[in-house]
Amino acid sequence: MAIVLDNITYTYGVGTPFEKTALKGISVTIENGEFLGIIGHTGSGKSTFVQHLNGLLHPTTGKVTVNGVDVSEKTDEAKHMRHKVGMVFQYPEHQLFEETIAEDIAFGPKNLGLDAEEVDRRVREAMAFVGLDYDTYAERSPFHLSGGQMRRVAIAGVVAMEPDFLVLDEPSAGLDPFGREEIFDEIIKLHKEKDVTVILVSHNMEDISRMANRLIVLDKGQIVLDGKPLDIFNHHRHVLQQVGVDVPPVSVLIELLRNRGLDVSNEVLTVDD
Ligand code: ADP
Repeated sequence: MAIVLDNITYTYGVGTPFEKTALKGISVTIENGEFLGIIGHTGSGKSTFVQHLNGLLHPTTGKVTVNGVDVSEKTDEAKHMRHKVGMVFQYPEHQLFEETIAEDIAFGPKNLGLDAEEVDRRVREAMAFVGLDYDTYAERSPFHLSGGQMRRVAIAGVVAMEPDFLVLDEPSAGLDPFGREEIFDEIIKLHKEKDVTVILVSHNMEDISRMANRLIVLDKGQIVLDGKPLDIFNHHRHVLQQVGVDVPPVSVLIELLRNRGLDVSNEVLTVDD
């Protein structure tokens, strides 16, 4: 299973005075099991990139396939594959709209045409997965929760779709450190326990370096770096600085990776700070 972007270009407002090419010649394969971080300065094309992964945007030129199926097509098979790619946007609480938490989480699975029993099973399982007790929360309004809890509901809604891929665009924006921990614990659990391939857009290098095993750096709609986070943070700092990405000191990153039990012994540090 993989998402393949084959020579993608995307232009907003084609033929208008506001025409803007946001992605240029992007070719990348996101393999099953990866935890891919995407970074880049504001306007580098991150949001445009991730909106191609489940067919929210169709490439102006080039092709996106999920598990071998072109997701721009209007077939049932393409629709099925689009549903395999869960998407959590910035401020996902804005995606909540049903009266109760259980109904909100059930919305996606119902749309898949699943029977009531299967929908109920998925809602219960998704709530348990994100740590929301069913009896306490199912009938409550999603709008009276804390920011962190609202995001849990939004993530439960995606979990209930049983996706192969999960795309998150700045999922911790606006949360306090506690809320951030909560959300990232859920994401790591999804990746590790449910084998969900994660694509995370973040400007927070700490979050990226402790979770991602691959990192793509975008600049002006192009991929300028693609590799292991530590390698990029260690050997390509000058590129990151050129494209306007803040990088914490290498020593901090190494500590972070060590704390996560990752082997950094094979790395040769080129920057001593
Ligand atoms: P990022 O997520 O990295 O901040 P975006 O993908 O949002 O970058 O934007 C990439 C480029 O496309 C920017 O120059 C932005 O101004 C432009 N852009 C984004 N959305 C639109 C839109 N709806 N219409 C026109 N231009 C857009």
